[in-house]
Amino acid sequence: MKNIILFGKPGAGKGTQAEFLKEAFGLVHISTGDVFRFNIKNQTPLGAMAKGYMDKGDLVPDAVTIQMLESEVDKHSNAPGFIFDGFPRTTAQAAALDAFLEKKGMQLAATLALDVDENVLVQRLLERGKGSGRADDQDEEKIRNRFAEYNQKTAPLIDYYKKQGKFHSIDGAGTIESIAMQLSNLVEQL
Ligand code: AMP
Repeated sequence: MKNIILFGKPGAGKGTQAEFLKEAFGLVHISTGDVFRFNIKNQTPLGAMAKGYMDKGDLVPDAVTIQMLESEVDKHSNAPGFIFDGFPRTTAQAAALDAFLEKKGMQLAATLALDVDENVLVQRLLERGKGSGRADDQDEEKIRNRFAEYNQKTAPLIDYYKKQGKFHSIDGAGTIESIAMQLSNLVEQL
């Protein structure tokens, strides 16, 4: 079973590459951002709770996010493996994921990071916001706040996974195809 985390700042290309890896390796893709957006669209209590945080570019609290992730995993009991996209984003989430997988007799194969410069990402996200209608992609201040959240709360996970010998970083500034190729080479070796 190959359980993979796709790691990187907002706009680094995690969602795009997850779609590719999902097809190539038959994995189940869980994007916590997508699950929150689905809940907002369908006006669920979870969506109502998450919306205020997401609109500002703040992280949704750990307890809610962890519980949601676990219930998404539990929906796919026969999955050959998972791609976690946008999760974990804090040390508490990473520790919860390790414990949850262990409890299920599973483990993480690798954390694959897409490394892209912040100024490149701002332009990418503003461009994406024009087409997607995502409010958090349309305002540079919100985008910068998401980077601040990443730098403060998510970046420490790089060391967390390095200590486990599971962290691999690739340059995320190339073409979609060349990055997909590099990622799939890494996944094949796991
Ligand atoms: P994303 O689609 O991954 O860029 O996530 C969009 C927004 O959803 C983030 O800015 C957060 O507000 C929220 N979110 C997604 N994943 C998480 C997570 N693992 N922990 C906390 N908040 C999250």
